[in-house]
Amino acid sequence: MSKAYQRPKVAVIGAGFAGLRCADVLLQGGVDVTVFEARNRIGGRVFQVSLEGQLYDVGANWIHEPNENPLMDIAKDTNTFVCPRPFGVALVDSSGRSRSIPYAERLKTTIDDLFDRASEYSYQHSAAIDPRLSIMDYVRDRVTEEFKGQPEFMQDLHREAERRGMWDGDPTSSLSLKHQCLEKGPGGIDVFVSGTYKNIVSQVAKPALEKGVVQLGQKVNRIIYQDDSSPAKVMVETSSGTQESFDEVVVTCPLGWLKKHRTSFFVPELPPPLSQAIDNISFGRLEKIYLTFPLAFWLSRGQDQQSTGSIDGYPCVTHFHHPSYVKNQIPYPANQMIVSLTHLLQGHTQPTILFYIHGPYATQLVHTIKGLEPHGDEYNNVLETYTKPFYSRLPNYAINDPACKPRSYYCSTWQLDDLAGNGSYSNFQIGQADAAKDVAILRDAGVLNRMKGVWFAGEHVAPACRQATTVGAYISGERVAENICKKWDMVLKRVSQGQPLAHI
Ligand SMILES: Cc1cc2nc3c(=O)[nH]c(=O)nc-3n(C[C@H](O)[C@H](O)[C@H](O)COP(=O)(O)OP(=O)(O)OC[C@H]3O[C@@H](n4cnc5c(N)ncnc54)[C@H](O)[C@@H]3O)c2cc1C
Repeated sequence: MSKAYQRPKVAVIGAGFAGLRCADVLLQGGVDVTVFEARNRIGGRVFQVSLEGQLYDVGANWIHEPNENPLMDIAKDTNTFVCPRPFGVALVDSSGRSRSIPYAERLKTTIDDLFDRASEYSYQHSAAIDPRLSIMDYVRDRVTEEFKGQPEFMQDLHREAERRGMWDGDPTSSLSLKHQCLEKGPGGIDVFVSGTYKNIVSQVAKPALEKGVVQLGQKVNRIIYQDDSSPAKVMVETSSGTQESFDEVVVTCPLGWLKKHRTSFFVPELPPPLSQAIDNISFGRLEKIYLTFPLAFWLSRGQDQQSTGSIDGYPCVTHFHHPSYVKNQIPYPANQMIVSLTHLLQGHTQPTILFYIHGPYATQLVHTIKGLEPHGDEYNNVLETYTKPFYSRLPNYAINDPACKPRSYYCSTWQLDDLAGNGSYSNFQIGQADAAKDVAILRDAGVLNRMKGVWFAGEHVAPACRQATTVGAYISGERVAENICKKWDMVLKRVSQGQPLAHI
């Protein structure tokens, strides 16, 4: 029988953006799809918690580079409120002193320009750049050359440069300069998904959920692909003991998960180039802390109660340089960024601050709260100890004012979550010789996909400029589905949800 008359049976492992979009497109092609999801929910690293009656994203909450971004269309379709990244910034320096807004902005503009130049330098000279050089090395050299006579500004620039690590989940000094060029994308000002990603994920999941092809609570333990029959069959074995064979299997487990489990998960083990690619790409450590207060005390009283218009006076974002004024010194550089959600959430009524923490300090913090009851006294005390040196430096803070005492504390723990790969998302670190090649090897899965029916999707195999993002995961799932349909001569007439495939 010609392939055109066959309906392939495809398993998708994971119901995050990659798996859900993959299932959606496969269903549109008429494929017989089963999605195996180990958790009892969909969304993967896109997930919300409810704090004081308000939903907050624990994982992704930005849509990066919104130009030509299908998630922007889905946000619009689902009436999800998004807010462009605010530009203003305040700064509290290492001694705990609030610096003037013009100084904070000069510092930010200078460092943003240095990051842009690092990117351009990497773009122009990537092949010649030593893989051991970091973005921090580039910034240090430029700062030394260009700001020689200004020691205080130089020191502040070094501290400010550390916040770059927040976007990648690891310290700036570990991020590869050579591979910085890969992040050059279609542009646009990032938007904060104020209405949360909830409805966007639901929309992407809708076709698969409506067709009843998502099996929740079904962890896949092994994929056995050694069968040499033609066409190949791949066996999927779940933790509940089921075994089922498929024509094609799409693996969207996070990179950190593949690093940890690949030797027992794939039977036989993956060929060396694939294993090496998995080992060579790094996995970051970003976590988020939410503090909710009775009032947004950092704004002039009354402003936080307004439900219309912009909030003037204090910027949405505050940068803190490593606090040397703390009695028990924080053992790792804790250059911190906090975001006032009062500025970004619809209605402007949420007196909540979001901390982004990354790298070794994030690791230490999540291990300190491990096993503590969320919102219990011990848990809250740990988070209070970390956050107070920062929030107590915001305007209008008064130690005895009940408005200045957090009402709820929450910290994400992705690094403790095996199914999230014990981390946040992929990044390229110093020492990696050829990141583009590693991603390409993994994305194309060697001969595994065409010959053996094993495919990889997920943020770690997204187009380079969309790596590590929700839209990257979405596009990677779409691309694999399209390739499977091609392999089976199935016609994909039209792909709904966001923009058509043609734009990619
Ligand atoms: C703290 C944090 C902040 C972030 N911020 C942003 C942001 O602002 N903007 C942005 O674009 N991106 C952000 N990201 C990254 C973004 O969340 C991810 O790139 C994207 O969600 C990954 O989607 P995915 O489908 O590749 O993986 P996942 O969402 O992780 O989906 C994989 C799924 O596979 C399941 N699974 C794993 N193993 C098995 C198994 N053996 N059997 C069955 N199921 C399995 C998992 O449970 C999971 O549901 C952030 C991530 C984190 C953690």
